[in-house]
Amino acid sequence: MKVVTVVGARPQFIKAAVVSHVLRRKHQEILVHTGQHFDYNMSEKFFEELDIPKPDYNLGISGGTHAEMTGRMMMAIEKVLLAEKPDCLLVYGDTNSTLAAALAAAKLHIPVCHVEAGARTHSCTNPEELNRICTDHISSLLLASTASGMEEMEKENLGERAVLVGDPMYDAFVIYSRKYKPGDISLRLLSGGESSIPDAFYYLTCHREENTGRDADLQEIFKAMEQLDAPVVYPVHPRNQERAKRLAAEMQLKNIVLAEPVGYLESACMVLNAKKIVTDSGGLQREAFFAGKKCVTILPFVVWPETMAGNRNNLASPDAEDILAKLALEQVVESDYLPFGDGHAAEKIVDALDEMAENR
Ligand code: UDP
Repeated sequence: MKVVTVVGARPQFIKAAVVSHVLRRKHQEILVHTGQHFDYNMSEKFFEELDIPKPDYNLGISGGTHAEMTGRMMMAIEKVLLAEKPDCLLVYGDTNSTLAAALAAAKLHIPVCHVEAGARTHSCTNPEELNRICTDHISSLLLASTASGMEEMEKENLGERAVLVGDPMYDAFVIYSRKYKPGDISLRLLSGGESSIPDAFYYLTCHREENTGRDADLQEIFKAMEQLDAPVVYPVHPRNQERAKRLAAEMQLKNIVLAEPVGYLESACMVLNAKKIVTDSGGLQREAFFAGKKCVTILPFVVWPETMAGNRNNLASPDAEDILAKLALEQVVESDYLPFGDGHAAEKIVDALDEMAENR
């Protein structure tokens, strides 16, 4: 079978890393990188660290409005699909790269296989929600990470095309999270220079459109972080660097370490060693759960309901008091509760592709 995989953003590289290695044992994979994330720290570093095969195509498309980016990607991906004539398209998650590839393939009658099908926020102001819904509805194979994803697919009458495979992010965490020790990590500070990881620290990431549009939200998040009892390490997504640096200077921050984004091996190691985690990332809130770390997610909606069990993850608004109150809530961890699969989602994804091919 010939599979075209399209990726473009950091979390997709991580998922594709584990799936590609299994897929290539018996199938031909053509890897397309749209270019949505392009800085070394957000892209190439992941390919190097996770030994992801070099992309066969790099489309170099990033920036612009959502429509511009998605449209330009569709045009370029259509050309690749026409040239490669794959048996199916494999896409991950909820980015513009995911939607563009799915639309281009579906219009050429190439079956679309969507990993992370059924994830829903039920908030259409969340740009990724539109990508998720549209991609699921035009996909032939819906590869759900969790039982709640399967339920969402049933509700939308897509159950017949859905298979529960588990979460390849969990596979990646199992495989890669102990490769580094905290002492191996060298943070590249936004102010210049390098720093090691403090012995005790909180791990913050914040980059969603919902939290980066205005100063006031990040100010509140910083206000809360300044009051914590250990330094807060914040590897800043390129989208937010300018604002973060400016606010850090204006607010004379003392407790927050602003750094360049770290690689996945460093990030997973930081999850395992942090006191607690504050984030607006879908991936990081799951990794906090995998590691049994208390997490506060600064978003108005739940993406991964499984993580919320036993106060392991709480939503907070971008409000210092609310964030601190949620961080203080005790969590209850039930170690036999494993809603993200058994660490073998990649194998199950490839099995589901095989079965689809056999039945066509
Ligand atoms: N991550 C990373 N370096 C960082 C921050 C995060 O490797 O500096 C990892 C993190 O561990 C998780 C993934 O990136 O695996 C999450 O990606 P992101 O937050 O960009 O996207 P989302 O998961 O929200 O779609």
